[in-house]
Amino acid sequence: MATDSRLAPEEAFAALGNELRVTVLRVLAEAAADAATDDERGLSFTEIYDRVDIDSTSQLSYHLDKLDGMFVRRSPDGYRLTQAGDRVVRAVRSGTYTATPTFPRTELDGRCHACRATTLVAEYRDPLLVVDCTACDTRVVTYDLPPAESVDRTPLEVLQSCDQRVHHEYGMALQGTCAMCGGRTEVSTRTRDPPDDDASTDDASTDGAPGYLCVAACRSCQHEVYAPLEVRLLYHPAVVSFYWQQGVDASTIPFWNVATYLTDWRVDRVSTDPDRFHVTVVYSDERLHLAVDDELAVSVRPPDANDSDA
Ligand SMILES: [Zn+2]
Ligand SMILES: [Zn+2]
Repeated sequence: MATDSRLAPEEAFAALGNELRVTVLRVLAEAAADAATDDERGLSFTEIYDRVDIDSTSQLSYHLDKLDGMFVRRSPDGYRLTQAGDRVVRAVRSGTYTATPTFPRTELDGRCHACRATTLVAEYRDPLLVVDCTACDTRVVTYDLPPAESVDRTPLEVLQSCDQRVHHEYGMALQGTCAMCGGRTEVSTRTRDPPDDDASTDDASTDGAPGYLCVAACRSCQHEVYAPLEVRLLYHPAVVSFYWQQGVDASTIPFWNVATYLTDWRVDRVSTDPDRFHVTVVYSDERLHLAVDDELAVSVRPPDANDSDA
C-alpha cells in the first residue's frame, strides 16, 4: 500500500529552508526527549514562542503553518513532531546534510581479489570510503560513510563499523527490505561488467573480480547494493558452518579480506533463464558443494563429475 504524501518534494524541502523552522523542530524534539510521559511530549504555541527567538506571534504562526502536516502535527496537547520531522532533526544532529566525514589514508590488512597482493589502502574520496590495491590499482570495496560514523572512532574502527553496517544493510536488502527507506527490494543475479575503476557508488562492490553479481535493488528509492555471488554465499549459514568446523568464523570476515577465502572457489552457471549455479566452496582440503537458484535459494548438493576436476 502506498502512502499519500501531503506535500510535493520541492514544497517539503522549501518548508525546511528557514533557520527558525529548523529551530522549532529542534525545540519540539528536545521537549519530546525531556517529557516524562507521552502526554507531555507536545508543546503549546506559547511554549514554543517562549523557546525560540522571534519577534511576534503572527510570525511564529506563519512558520508553524509551513511545517504543519508534514513535519509537525497539531493535537489537543500541543504541537509534536511527525516521523518526517523527527528524521529531519536526527539528520541535522548527526550532520548528515552539513558535515563532511574525515578519514586519513590508512594501510589495511587484507587481500586484493585481482592480484592477491596485501597492499591495501583505505581512503575517503567524497562521497565514498574506498579500499584500493596499490599494487594493481584495483578497487577492492567501497562504503558510504555518514559523517557521524567517522566521529570518535579510530580509522580501523571506522572501517569495521562501515563493514558491519553494510553487511547488515546488504543482508536486509537480500531479504526484501531496503535499509535506506524500508521499501521493497528485488533480488537478482547479473553478469559482472568488465572492471571499471571509477564505477560504483554502491556498497559492497568489489570491482575487478570475474563472474556473477548478486544484486538487491529498492523499488522505492532505487538504492542498489551488490556483491559477487561468492561474497553473498560466504555469509550463508551452510558456508559459515562449513568454515566454522575448520576453525574459521566466516561471519566476521570483512569485505576487504574475502579474497583470502574465495581464491579456490569455483562458480559455474549450469543453466540460464532462469539462472542456476553450482558452487564449490574450498578451504584447505575440504569441499562443500552448493546449488543456487535464480532467487538465490541455496541448497547443499552431492558432488558431480565436474566437481572432481575442481
Ligand atoms: Zn591488486
Ligand atoms: Zn530504498
